Amino acid sequence: MLKPLLSLTGGLVAALAVSALHAAPLSDEDLSVAEVLRDRALESSDAYSIVESLTVEVGPRPAGSAGDRRAVAWAQEKMKELGFDRVYTEQIEVPRWNRGHAHARVTAPFPQPLVVTSLGYSVGTPEGGITAEIVEFPDVEALMKAPASKVKGKIAFINKRMERTRTGEGYGPVVGGRSQGMRNAAEKGAAALMIRSVGTDSDRFAHTGMMSIKDVESPVPALALSAPDANLLEAMLERGKPVEVKLDVHNQRLEDGPSFNVIGEITGRENPEEVMVIGAHLDSWDEGTGALDDGAGVAVVMETARLIAELPQRPRRTLRVILYGAEEIGLVGSKQYVEAHQDELDNIIAVSESDFGAGKIWRFDTRLPETRFDIADQMMQLLAPLGIERGNNKSSGGPDSSVFVAQGVPAFGLYQDGTDYFDYHHTPNDTLDKVDPENLKQNVAAWVVMSFLATEMEGDLGRVPTEH
Ligand SMILES: [Zn+2]
Repeated sequence: MLKPLLSLTGGLVAALAVSALHAAPLSDEDLSVAEVLRDRALESSDAYSIVESLTVEVGPRPAGSAGDRRAVAWAQEKMKELGFDRVYTEQIEVPRWNRGHAHARVTAPFPQPLVVTSLGYSVGTPEGGITAEIVEFPDVEALMKAPASKVKGKIAFINKRMERTRTGEGYGPVVGGRSQGMRNAAEKGAAALMIRSVGTDSDRFAHTGMMSIKDVESPVPALALSAPDANLLEAMLERGKPVEVKLDVHNQRLEDGPSFNVIGEITGRENPEEVMVIGAHLDSWDEGTGALDDGAGVAVVMETARLIAELPQRPRRTLRVILYGAEEIGLVGSKQYVEAHQDELDNIIAVSESDFGAGKIWRFDTRLPETRFDIADQMMQLLAPLGIERGNNKSSGGPDSSVFVAQGVPAFGLYQDGTDYFDYHHTPNDTLDKVDPENLKQNVAAWVVMSFLATEMEGDLGRVPTEH
């Protein structure tokens, strides 16, 4: 009903009429600035050169490592170069770990090597390695139900395949094996845990990733097998004879140490204390260069802020870009951020994160009070031409954003096509060649529409009731 009104009347009159009705918070003028930003992003944004710089000049950056420290310095310098008004860091405390080697070899009945990698924060084997029989489980639930006598002294092998989907929803059903497998294997006296990699590729790379280690009394080595090696082991087990594997693993757990959330702001011209938070995570796993996870996200949100900083005037409220530290090992940076800024959460109008690779954005999800769907509808007018459809109102805003959302902060979610994301996720193959510069332009175009309109609009979004 309001749209014809907007198109028939002059910008100012329409904006006044609309704000009086408290219905359409974005004026024609806001929308036309957003449109200019969007088209500029499509033509000339260059997020690619940011992710190129991060992967070439820093590379792997696991939390608390020397690479992480270089990434923190890189991010501050880059933000200044891109024209942010304010750049600063906030220290966080992170557990640290160094990967050593992980060798696995079938010793009987068909001796041959297997390609494996340690899961994050895995312990090593005793000097000289261990040799034990494999006991296979279809999923982590089956391991949990098994009697300890079936597992004791053996290598528990969780062999669950991940389904390829555009949304990445195949991840949820398999990731429990990675996160909870070692804990359950250790409690039953297993010698070690091996899982089929959480991934969708058939490359001979294993996928690492974090597992739950808190309060596990006697942790055991935990490894992921590449998909072809999991197939090989499966085929050996089908032959009905006991299969024995030798593991030789060395890793190093270090003292907790510092890392940082790196924060850059475009300061609001009218209500600088009100903030739209957009982000990505700066840390990565150690084996690739973290181009997709999450170098691309870092580049998209930084380039989004650069385009907004180039406008002749600052937006009404502040745009804050947070590059979170230590996401991979359990959302450490975002949890410590929300904890430290409890009393300012009411000033955060909404939150969003880019952390799902470098594919095209195809869906716009939200987490808004139902009375504020009008804002999403208006944003959709500019997102739809980018090939983006309206999704649901259940967005978490991304992994780090979910920590804010749990406290009622509204969220926006620009959902990327993740069809091939889990081919590379947490592998040595997560490298720059997987990033398509044209896709990043489309990403920045969508992010700049959403970010600009949220920082510029009249009124706020309220809070979203939490489910608990
Ligand atoms: Zn990530």
